[in-house]
Amino acid sequence: MLHFAAQKSGKVPLINSQIKPEGESDVAVFNHPEFDNHEQVVFCSDQQTGLRAIIAVHSTRLGPAVGGCRLWNYASDEEAIADVLRLSRGMTYKNAMAGLPLGGGKSVIIGDAKTIKSEALFQAFGRMLHRLSGSYYSAEDVNITTGDIMQVHKVTPYVAGLEGKSGNPGPFTAIGTYQGIKAAAMHKFGTADLAGKTIAVQGLGSVGFYLCEHLHKEGAKLIVTDINQAAVDRAVTQFGATAVGLHGIYEVEADIYAPCALGATLNDDTIGLLKAKVVAGCANNQLKQARHGEMLRQRGILYAPDYVINAGGIINVACEMRPQGYNADESTAKVNQIYQTLLNIFQRADAEDKPTSEIADVMAQEIISRGQQQ
Ligand code: NAD
Repeated sequence: MLHFAAQKSGKVPLINSQIKPEGESDVAVFNHPEFDNHEQVVFCSDQQTGLRAIIAVHSTRLGPAVGGCRLWNYASDEEAIADVLRLSRGMTYKNAMAGLPLGGGKSVIIGDAKTIKSEALFQAFGRMLHRLSGSYYSAEDVNITTGDIMQVHKVTPYVAGLEGKSGNPGPFTAIGTYQGIKAAAMHKFGTADLAGKTIAVQGLGSVGFYLCEHLHKEGAKLIVTDINQAAVDRAVTQFGATAVGLHGIYEVEADIYAPCALGATLNDDTIGLLKAKVVAGCANNQLKQARHGEMLRQRGILYAPDYVINAGGIINVACEMRPQGYNADESTAKVNQIYQTLLNIFQRADAEDKPTSEIADVMAQEIISRGQQQ
């Protein structure tokens, strides 16, 4: 009540009015299960625009931290903190394995994307970003468009993935995923040639559809699913794909399963159903839990670790950040290196008898602790 009256009068509320009632827990960061010695976690609020955001800089050991900004209607602050801590750590690993001179960070804006967006909100976020003086660069993520990022860019240079520069990351993520599928085929089947291979693609969005185009060109047989019937119809018409139901995709007779929609699709319920001998797709966080990497290995299924195979988009964004500027050919050449990076992971996983997911983490940690690019 006192707090409300003070806000109305424009005065700062008395400090004692903000002390939490006994028994109400404080949000913990340093002992949070997802906390991993993050260098900086910044809580941002702007009363005028309703901005509530958290910026997490996990590591700048390899360079400035880069990772997208996600706008999400989190059920609680705790949920937002868990997400930003986990995602920022993931970016450190992804950027390291992609051989980029970049660290890992991520930001989240808390709110309903349908109602909270305004130019002023993104500019307020940009001012917060600016205070970090370039230790973190933001880009797009879920519910953030290039238009939103352009608003952020009005008040700070510390953004990437701008219109007219590297642009839509989807096609580059698709190229990297395509190369990753070829590397997995090489390792598992002894040939990178995908002609005649049957590939089950889950999700035909901005990455999945481009991926299908590459696979079709090479002569692969496609089995597809999506909740968007129009996308399925297009794939059937353009690529001669066979459409299956949402759940059926796990059980089809395929050589390769490419998850390109949701996270956590590799879990206790689905791994036992898979007939494919390779899992290689662009979706983030494919393993529901870390132990599912071992479960795939036990079943003799070769898994291309998600943050390695889907790094094409960030590699393309990083190209825009170089002093010499963006160049699509050079970006593509770097994305194509995902092929060799994955072969290295597969070979080491075999040699050490460990899941590929675990080996990718170990290799990323080695790169980070050396503090240099791959
Ligand atoms: P998108 O939203 O454009 O496409 C996702 C597609 O999946 C949509 O067509 C959607 O209808 C479909 N889908 C949703 N639920 C489904 C379900 N239950 N079964 C089948 N299909 C379903 O997203 P995108 O940009 O193509 O990204 C796909 C995945 O790749 C996401 O996990 C994303 O985090 C990850 N990723 C994307 C990029 C990128 O550059 N866009 C980079 C790295 C990782």
